[in-house]
Amino acid sequence: MIVTVAAFKGGVGKSTTALHLATYLQSQADTLLVDGDLNRSALDWADRGKLPFKVADEREGVDLARLYEHIVIDTPTKPDTKELKTLARGCDLLVIPCTPDAIALAATLHMVDALQGYRVNYRILLNIIPPSPNNSGEEARNALENAGLPVFKSGIRRLAVFQRAALLGVPVNGVKDAYAQIAWRCYVEVGKEMLELGARR
Ligand code: ADP
Repeated sequence: MIVTVAAFKGGVGKSTTALHLATYLQSQADTLLVDGDLNRSALDWADRGKLPFKVADEREGVDLARLYEHIVIDTPTKPDTKELKTLARGCDLLVIPCTPDAIALAATLHMVDALQGYRVNYRILLNIIPPSPNNSGEEARNALENAGLPVFKSGIRRLAVFQRAALLGVPVNGVKDAYAQIAWRCYVEVGKEMLELGARR
């Protein structure tokens, strides 16, 4: 399947999500991560350490794509509407990470609006959710669901181990840290939902 990860706002964990979804998909079948983010986050991540899947830029990606079962595309932040439509049309699932705060929620609504009229299979992923007693994650979920928008049942918790993983150049399941497996479970749950969604198409 082809999974595109896109967001209208930076810092919502888009590249971290693309990288961990690719890690999950690689555990099922050969996966390619195409790093189309101009910050080249995934390529830098791969340079620092070791990732369990192939990472390519867009140009290499075109040549390599047919060799892989799954492709995850990390896109430039804030694509314009035309770019967004091109990215969204070519994929099986568009994942839109969104942090539970007013600015990211507004950016997500704006993105969903831009997709109107196009048959795009998309899901919003609540990301970097702070621990209780902060209930912004729940509030954001309610707001999105009340607006009738599709949201992944699982969300990704805010855990410092994600930043350690980025520094080490490995996915979070490769870090020796008490929270690593908790962090990884979050993406495994999302990965399972994602495969179900892809399979239903
Ligand atoms: P984007 O691609 O949207 O700009 P990044 O994936 O680069 O976002 O993440 C932005 C910052 O947030 C990075 O420092 C990253 O390590 C951190 N981050 C991402 N996901 C999480 C998380 N679940 N918990 C804590 N920090 C996170």
